Amino acid sequence: MQFTDLGLSAELLRAIGEQGYTTPTPVQQQAIPHILAGRDLEALAQTGTGKTAAFVLPILQRLTNPLASPLQKVVHTAPRVLVLVPTRELAAQVLESVRVYGAHTGLRSLAVFGGVGINPQIQTMRRGIDILVATPGRLLDHLGQRTVDLSKVQTLVLDEADRMFDMGFIRDIRRIIEKLPKVRQNLMFSATFAAEVRELAHAVLQNPALVEVARRNAPAELVTHTVIKVDQDKKRDLLLHLFAAHGWHQVLVFCRTKHGSDALAKKLEQSGVRTAALHGNKSQNARTRALADFKSGKLAALVATDIAARGLDIDSLPRVVNFELPNVPEDYIHRIGRTGRAGASGEALSLVSSDERIQLRDIERLLKREIETSVVPGFEPQHTHSTPRPSAGRPPAQKPAQARPRTGAGNRSGAPRPARSGAGGAKPASHHSGQRHR
Ligand code: AMP
Repeated sequence: MQFTDLGLSAELLRAIGEQGYTTPTPVQQQAIPHILAGRDLEALAQTGTGKTAAFVLPILQRLTNPLASPLQKVVHTAPRVLVLVPTRELAAQVLESVRVYGAHTGLRSLAVFGGVGINPQIQTMRRGIDILVATPGRLLDHLGQRTVDLSKVQTLVLDEADRMFDMGFIRDIRRIIEKLPKVRQNLMFSATFAAEVRELAHAVLQNPALVEVARRNAPAELVTHTVIKVDQDKKRDLLLHLFAAHGWHQVLVFCRTKHGSDALAKKLEQSGVRTAALHGNKSQNARTRALADFKSGKLAALVATDIAARGLDIDSLPRVVNFELPNVPEDYIHRIGRTGRAGASGEALSLVSSDERIQLRDIERLLKREIETSVVPGFEPQHTHSTPRPSAGRPPAQKPAQARPRTGAGNRSGAPRPARSGAGGAKPASHHSGQRHR
């Protein structure tokens, strides 16, 4: 699915394009149609899933669509959308999203939160705003001083509702809700469905649509992420090399397509790696057998598509290999969620060719960090398009003046043996040249 399939306006698609996004994340795919249709929504989605755009985009669309909002021609001064958030940092982030995605809509927005002067907020509000993002405490201050008018609110968003509970805002939220028109659209986003969140949902939401994007099974921190840069046409050989060099067993390999999974599984099998493919064209019997054989250790590799891998429950899977990066960054989280479960450490290794740099950038944005990059001697990519990537916090790594001299042209087999780490695993990272390619 593409953003263009969601029925968003040209102004919004333009702003989305300017961000470099083409594919909506799962929470966006699921939530946007409901919100556009005017329904209430209860969404279980964590930060990092793209949840902000999931509510900001359809809200902007409804505010600019004269059919959904017949009073549009009237100049509004009071906000028609209220987004309640637990912290000032989140308020600033949500406002930023509203402004980025709404850049071509002409809608006006403001964030109010404590710790800064109230007067500039009052002045901006007087000039008129469409979307108000607020922390509960400061909004109550404004209500107390009658410097905000909530009587025109058509849509209420409770973002990170569980954190608002944790921070003790529930009574404030109830007081604020009392000031809103009774008929309105309500959207609630939460990372968990704790009992008190359910209770609030029950009290506030009217016949809500439910959207649940898969939890991150493994916190990204528990998993070692590595990118190996390699040319597309060398990926299969590299994968075989890694199996041979490290004696890998129980590796879940992800491909983007059914055809690609079949072709890769065949190649691995022909080269002596016991492999099965798992995808939607396989019969249920074949899938069950493949999974059982993989779990019992009969198969060293299971090559799967994203859809087929949903719901796979394999205990202590040591390693996931992304033979190709997913188009939707959220799928990367799903994939790595197959390893590092229950606190065990796991490894997510991605073979990335130069044509996948956009996907890699999006994944790093989602993870809010850069992924360590390396090359395997003998498989150095010939097609290196170095693109400047926005820093995810760390200063750019120093590029080594010269790659380490190779020991000879035929060093695929002569590559240094990986250092053993602990009882089981060979760490591919230690096998690499250790260069960072930025
Ligand atoms: P959020 O879950 O709203 O905090 O979003 C996490 C990150 O994902 C933000 O940096 C967004 O800019 C980014 N993001 C949101 N939607 C998309 C998308 N469709 N494709 C790629 N990145 C996205």
